[in-house]
Order: sequence, then structure tokens, then C-alpha cells
Amino acid sequence: MSAMPSLFVSHGGPNVVVEPSEAHDYLKSIGGLVPRPKAIVLVSAHFETDGPVVVTDPAPGMIYDFGGFPDELYEMVYPAPGEPELAMRVAHLLADAGLNPRIAPKRGYDHGAWNTMILAFPAADIPIVQLSIDPRRDAAYHFSLGRTLAPLREEDILLVGSGHITHNLRAVFGAMRGGLANDPVMTQKVSAFTDWFAEKFAADDTKAILDWTKQAPYPAENHPTDEHLMPLFFAYGAAGEGGEGDSGARLAPVRLLRLGFVAVHLTVTRLRIHAANSKRFGGGGMRRLWLAWLNSVRAFRHLIAHEPAFRQEVAVLVPALPVAWAITQSMVGFLLLIGALLFLITVEALNTSVEKACDALTREFNPDIQLAKDCGSLAVLVAMLIAGGGWIFAAFRFFQGAPI
Ligand code: ZN
Repeated sequence: MSAMPSLFVSHGGPNVVVEPSEAHDYLKSIGGLVPRPKAIVLVSAHFETDGPVVVTDPAPGMIYDFGGFPDELYEMVYPAPGEPELAMRVAHLLADAGLNPRIAPKRGYDHGAWNTMILAFPAADIPIVQLSIDPRRDAAYHFSLGRTLAPLREEDILLVGSGHITHNLRAVFGAMRGGLANDPVMTQKVSAFTDWFAEKFAADDTKAILDWTKQAPYPAENHPTDEHLMPLFFAYGAAGEGGEGDSGARLAPVRLLRLGFVAVHLTVTRLRIHAANSKRFGGGGMRRLWLAWLNSVRAFRHLIAHEPAFRQEVAVLVPALPVAWAITQSMVGFLLLIGALLFLITVEALNTSVEKACDALTREFNPDIQLAKDCGSLAVLVAMLIAGGGWIFAAFRFFQGAPI
């Protein structure tokens, strides 16, 4: 089984959707270039926030975040559904990586998303989850967003970065005003810049790629502001580590198209990764067991990091082992004391899962959700009474000289 590739696409101007061009044809061909994904996680340059935000909207609307384009563009609708469950998984993966994501329960598709998807997957039947960029953060940050989500590719989820390999609108409009279809000086700078990326991707030179502002030629001319390049680093990170049979390169630029205008934002680059190795643990049982283990470790790390009650109970368990051993005389007594603590920790974990599920539904007041949370708290209280009672009884018997 090979994993889904990760993609970077230059989304073009909004009119790329309706006007014939090589970029239009290229975007249209994407659906046939990759295996059919179960869902898509898309990072668009037109979704800018402070820190990562994941859209959980089950039915995202449309955002026409552009002006002065043909009327027909403002009537277009791309009705692909969202997928709240996947969005929450994305948020959890990011949270576990310490990236502090937030949730946007209601947000439509910006043109960086729908412009590309309407051409690539016109049936609009593949759910899409949008994730934001942070324009104040650098390439390494967006690379880490991608790297964190890379495992999703193994589940037939396509990870897409939608931005521009080059994006100097002022140069484009300047050339247009001067009546130029092509400014030769600027064209040369664009070529040097994209060729540099092509070369570094072919060599899989992560260090150089993430240091593009210092190492790439003409960085400021190609990206006066760099938000349109950030989805590229997301897609690169999402490519993950090289897989089996991989010759070392994780990404290979399949083609770079330079079209039309000067500093053009009609350049389309596709980065496709080699299939990552997903055979390590075979197919059925072992793989499920391994996934269960990974999920458990993730949950444990989250609880330790974010749930003080859980952390305290685990902290108590460690000294409790020798103490229980000292104050009991039978194995049954010892196991009962430790079992009572493990039971309390289990109930605490379940209580957290109830709270998280409730918060995922809504954070607003709802009597049923309040009752669910209250029941969780009651279960924790009962488990505490059981554990506390057991320990008090054992200590009492110990001091009486008749340990259990
Ligand atoms: Zn754009």
C-alpha cells in the first residue's frame, strides 16, 4: 500500500477557474494525478491566523475574497462537505506536537481552496478540512505543521498546500500598466528562484529549503510578503520521511510552469512524494495493535501534559507501589491497593474523554452536556472513595498488626 502524496499547488488568480490557460489545464489534471483521496486537508495562503486554526465546519460556505473579477466567479459554489471528525484529529495531532491549535466551527472556502479544488475535484464529493497559515511564522513552522500531519497520508488523506511559488503582484500589475506581457528582468528572477527550489527539492536539501530567505536568489522580488510561499513548506513537511525504495529524495518537482505575466502567480508546481513505507507492521492484527498503542501513548502524553488531576494520580501511583508492598502481606492485598489506584486513573481518563467529546460538540451551555460532565465527575468521585477507602482500610489493618 502506498501513501497519498502531498501536493503543493499555485492557485493562480481567481480567474484561472474560468479562463483557459496551461495553469487551468494543470489544476484540472490533478484529480487524475493522485489516487482518489478519502478526504483532503488543505492549507491555503488566504487563511491567515495567529497560530494554527482548524475548520470544523461540516458544510463550509463560499468566501469570495477577491475584487474586480468576472461576475460568474462570484456565483460559483463549491459544495464539498467539511469533516469535523477529521478536523478534530488534525487539531489533536497539532496539540500533541505542542502547536496549540484552535477551532473555527464556521468558515467557508477561501479562493485558495475552492479555486484549486473546483478544477481538481469538480464533483465536490471529497470532504475538505482547511488549516490556516500564520504569516508571522517562518518556513520551519509551516514545515512542522506538515510533518505533524504527515501520518494522515497513510489513511488516504491528501495533504495540500495552496499558495504560489512566486507572488509579486506589484511587479505583475506594474508590467501590465507598462503594457508589457513579460518583464524580462523579472522573468529571469522568477526563473532563478523557481529553478533554485526545483534543484533543492530534487536534492531533498531541507536545510537550504527552510533557509530560503537567505539562500534562494531574489527572495524579496519573488515574495515581497511571504504568506503565499508558506503552504509550500507545509506540503514539503507533509511529505514525511523517505520511504522504502526511496532514493533519498522525498520530493521531486514534476514540472514548473511559467505562464503569462511576469512575476506571475500562474506558476504551478507540483511536488509529489514517493510512497512512504507503510508495510512495517504488516496488514491486519499487528497493525491495529500498533495503532492502538500509538493512540494510547498519544492520549497518555496529552493527559500528563494538560490534565493536572491525571498527572497527580499518576504521580501518586509511583510511590504507592513500594508503600503498598510494605503495608500488605498478601499478593491479593497488594494488587487490590494498586488496582484501586489504576481504576481511579482509568475513570479519570474516561472522564476527560467525556469532557473532550462534549467540548467538541459545543462549548455553549446545554443541559444534556452539563449532565454528561456531571456524571463524569460523579464517577471520578466514586473511584476516589473506593481507592481512598481501600487504602485507609489497609493502613488501619497494618497499624493493628494484621495487614491484609
Ligand atoms: Zn492567492
